Amino acid sequence: MRPEARAGEDMEAMNRLSCEQAVRQFFAYLDRALSGEPLEALEAHLEACLDCCDKLQFSRQLDVFVRGRLGEAPLPEDVEARIRREIAAAQAGASESKE
Ligand SMILES: [Zn+2]
Repeated sequence: MRPEARAGEDMEAMNRLSCEQAVRQFFAYLDRALSGEPLEALEAHLEACLDCCDKLQFSRQLDVFVRGRLGEAPLPEDVEARIRREIAAAQAGASESKE
Protein backbone atom coordinates (compact mmCIF):
# COMPACT_ATOMS: atom_id res chain seq x y z
CA MET A 1 0.00 0.00 0.00
CA ARG A 2 2.57 2.55 1.09
CA PRO A 3 5.95 3.04 -0.48
CA GLU A 4 7.61 3.23 2.93
CA ALA A 5 6.16 -0.13 3.98
CA ARG A 6 8.96 -2.44 4.96
CA ALA A 7 10.39 -4.55 2.21
CA GLY A 8 11.38 -8.18 2.49
CA GLU A 9 9.65 -10.74 4.64
CA ASP A 10 7.01 -8.37 5.91
CA MET A 11 5.76 -7.65 2.44
CA GLU A 12 4.18 -11.05 2.25
CA ALA A 13 2.09 -10.38 5.31
CA MET A 14 1.23 -6.89 4.14
CA ASN A 15 0.07 -8.21 0.82
CA ARG A 16 -2.31 -10.67 2.35
CA LEU A 17 -4.44 -8.05 4.03
CA SER A 18 -4.80 -4.36 3.35
CA CYS A 19 -5.04 -1.97 6.28
CA GLU A 20 -8.65 -1.38 5.38
CA GLN A 21 -9.41 -5.07 5.47
CA ALA A 22 -7.53 -5.47 8.72
CA VAL A 23 -9.42 -2.65 10.41
CA ARG A 24 -12.73 -4.18 9.35
CA GLN A 25 -11.85 -7.33 11.24
CA PHE A 26 -10.96 -5.62 14.52
CA PHE A 27 -14.34 -6.14 16.10
CA ALA A 28 -14.43 -9.78 15.18
CA TYR A 29 -10.88 -10.07 16.48
CA LEU A 30 -11.75 -8.40 19.78
CA ASP A 31 -14.78 -10.65 20.08
CA ARG A 32 -12.51 -13.62 19.44
CA ALA A 33 -14.78 -14.46 16.56
CA LEU A 34 -11.82 -14.89 14.21
CA SER A 35 -10.06 -18.17 13.73
CA GLY A 36 -7.99 -19.99 11.17
CA GLU A 37 -6.70 -18.11 8.15
CA PRO A 38 -8.46 -14.78 8.74
CA LEU A 39 -7.00 -14.69 12.26
CA GLU A 40 -3.53 -15.57 11.04
CA ALA A 41 -3.70 -13.01 8.28
CA LEU A 42 -4.81 -10.30 10.68
CA GLU A 43 -2.14 -11.14 13.23
CA ALA A 44 0.49 -11.20 10.53
CA HIS A 45 -0.69 -7.82 9.37
CA LEU A 46 -0.64 -6.41 12.89
CA GLU A 47 2.92 -7.58 13.37
CA ALA A 48 4.00 -5.82 10.22
CA CYS A 49 1.87 -2.70 10.47
CA LEU A 50 2.32 -0.22 13.31
CA ASP A 51 -0.58 1.86 12.04
CA CYS A 52 -3.03 -0.94 12.54
CA CYS A 53 -1.50 -1.82 15.90
CA ASP A 54 -2.30 1.68 17.06
CA LYS A 55 -5.81 1.47 15.72
CA LEU A 56 -6.35 -1.88 17.35
CA GLN A 57 -5.23 -0.44 20.69
CA PHE A 58 -7.81 2.28 20.27
CA SER A 59 -10.54 -0.19 19.34
CA ARG A 60 -9.62 -2.41 22.24
CA GLN A 61 -9.80 0.42 24.74
CA LEU A 62 -13.17 1.43 23.39
CA ASP A 63 -14.31 -2.16 23.50
CA VAL A 64 -13.28 -2.50 27.15
CA PHE A 65 -14.89 0.80 28.00
CA VAL A 66 -18.18 -0.14 26.37
CA ARG A 67 -18.26 -3.59 27.90
CA GLY A 68 -17.42 -2.16 31.30
CA ARG A 69 -20.38 0.17 31.12
CA LEU A 70 -22.83 -2.38 29.86
CA GLY A 71 -21.66 -5.32 31.89
CA GLU A 72 -22.43 -8.62 30.31
CA ALA A 73 -25.37 -7.35 28.32
CA PRO A 74 -24.84 -7.46 24.57
CA LEU A 75 -24.76 -4.12 22.82
CA PRO A 76 -28.02 -2.97 21.32
CA GLU A 77 -27.54 -2.86 17.59
CA ASP A 78 -27.97 0.87 17.18
CA VAL A 79 -25.37 1.57 19.84
CA GLU A 80 -22.92 -0.80 18.24
CA ALA A 81 -23.53 0.75 14.84
CA ARG A 82 -22.91 4.19 16.25
CA ILE A 83 -19.66 3.15 17.90
CA ARG A 84 -18.49 1.51 14.71
CA ARG A 85 -19.23 4.71 12.82
CA GLU A 86 -17.33 6.76 15.38
CA ILE A 87 -14.34 4.47 15.16
CA ALA A 88 -14.46 4.61 11.38
CA ALA A 89 -14.62 8.40 11.52
CA ALA A 90 -11.74 8.55 14.00
CA GLN A 91 -9.69 6.28 11.81
CA ALA A 92 -10.50 8.25 8.68
CA GLY A 93 -9.43 11.43 10.48
CA ALA A 94 -6.21 9.80 11.65
CA SER A 95 -5.21 8.64 8.21
CA GLU A 96 -6.11 11.98 6.64
CA SER A 97 -3.69 13.79 8.89
CA LYS A 98 -0.98 11.34 7.89
CA GLU A 99 -1.44 11.31 4.17
ZN1 LIG B 1 -2.22 -1.93 8.51
